[in-house]
Amino acid sequence: MQVTDELIRGVVQEVLAHMRNGRAVPTNGHARRWGVFDDVNQAVAAASEAQRQFEQRGLEDRRKAIACIRRICIEQAEPLGREELEETKIGRLEHKIDKLKVVGEKTPGVEFLRTDAFSGENGITLTEYAPFGVIGVITPVTHSLPTLVGNAINMLAAGNALVCNPHPSGARIACKGTQLFNQAIDEAIGIDNLITILANPTLESAQAIFDHRDIRLLCVTGGPAVGRAALRSPKRAIVAGPGNPPVVVDETADLDNAARCIVKGAAYDNNLLCIGEKEVFAVAAIFDELLDAMTRHKVVRLDRKQIDALTKAAFVPSSEDKSKSVVNKDLIGQDASVLAEKAGVKVPAGTELLFGETDASHPFVDHEQMMPFVPFVRVPDVDAAIALAKKYEHGFGHTAIIHSRNVETITRMGREMDVSLFVQNGPSMASLGAGGEGYLSFSIATPTGEGVTTPLTFARQRRSTTVGSMRVL
Ligand code: NAD
Repeated sequence: MQVTDELIRGVVQEVLAHMRNGRAVPTNGHARRWGVFDDVNQAVAAASEAQRQFEQRGLEDRRKAIACIRRICIEQAEPLGREELEETKIGRLEHKIDKLKVVGEKTPGVEFLRTDAFSGENGITLTEYAPFGVIGVITPVTHSLPTLVGNAINMLAAGNALVCNPHPSGARIACKGTQLFNQAIDEAIGIDNLITILANPTLESAQAIFDHRDIRLLCVTGGPAVGRAALRSPKRAIVAGPGNPPVVVDETADLDNAARCIVKGAAYDNNLLCIGEKEVFAVAAIFDELLDAMTRHKVVRLDRKQIDALTKAAFVPSSEDKSKSVVNKDLIGQDASVLAEKAGVKVPAGTELLFGETDASHPFVDHEQMMPFVPFVRVPDVDAAIALAKKYEHGFGHTAIIHSRNVETITRMGREMDVSLFVQNGPSMASLGAGGEGYLSFSIATPTGEGVTTPLTFARQRRSTTVGSMRVL
């Protein structure tokens, strides 16, 4: 047998698994799985057992468990981000690394579980936040490990355990993270399997999670199909669904800031973020000036012919209905240089983004395309821009962005769009605390309305009322 580093690491892990706090840990003759299972029933049973133990512990153990996840994400962001990119083959390395760091740093934890109180002549009433139990989780390929991490921190903070069906194309990195987290948590507080995951996820295993009687709540992050499937389940589902975020730019905007922000948001991870700027509606009075401002930010403008060539490659007939076109998955999350090649252009190394003028009815405007090409649509005035933004957001209620110095216009668009995230004069990620105020989650519950998920999203409210005493005033 060849002795490799991997083999030695495996043996060491196995030995450590048998020795915790100087005691032998029973493994029933099997290697420890550290949360990774082949079967939904086994995963749910292990998570249920872990959650029963966890529920008996105090908040301090929850803090410790979450601290393990944060530490691993931040310290190992580079190798984990690299592995995620190698497996999923979409997005950009620097942003894969960045996402793991920020999700480790900025996801809210137990500090969000503040007890609410009423105090009066009749005594006191407390509202406290209790766990649901085991939560079923579905994660997308666009941020496989970061979504799992954000969900796990929020859910553990509220005292839950979870069972995850990851996207098959991002399952390996999600399983790796799960194992690292469970090992560290087990070492810190002596509980394994607070996070469990399916090693070979399928649509059937997702359905088995939706139907499992020991799962109390679902949290699903992905496109329209999975959202619909989760909402058909008799359980309560928190659905973080698709978006197609429009940007409106009016004649009062700071154009250089608008251009810089559009590039920053749309180029991030090659436009994989559900909140990322997908199409721009700019008023005619400043349209050409805005497009000139764009060119100062490491981007390349495509002409009509080049956009046509790119469009032919980027959209393909739907396999279900040949008269409809769908996004070509091979180009999702690819670098701007790859898209440029399809457009018949050679772009300088380090090009962040491609952009160009299109009509409003263009497929790049209509579809949530998740590629580093942004279509710009010329409109006569800001009312037309807001109307088109509303139309092409498709009622997802997700994210919209405006660049304007006119507070009335901003207010009107905010009311009109009725979205979960509305950003003014910044890049889309400012709405998740990156360059704006607030906290982060990679699950923004749009159709079901919980917004940016927090530990409170995964907690049951329980009220305790004391009559006639405990008011000490
Ligand atoms: P996807 O819908 O293809 O897959 C998401 C997950 O759902 C995967 O785990 C997949 O295996 C599973 N799935 C798909 N169809 C299913 C079905 N019928 N039954 C059960 N499970 C099913 O999406 P993706 O390409 O992985 O991710 C991108 C999409 O997710 C985009 O639409 C994006 O906007 C959205 N997204 C939303 C948020 C948010 O917070 N709202 C965050 C990230 C991504």
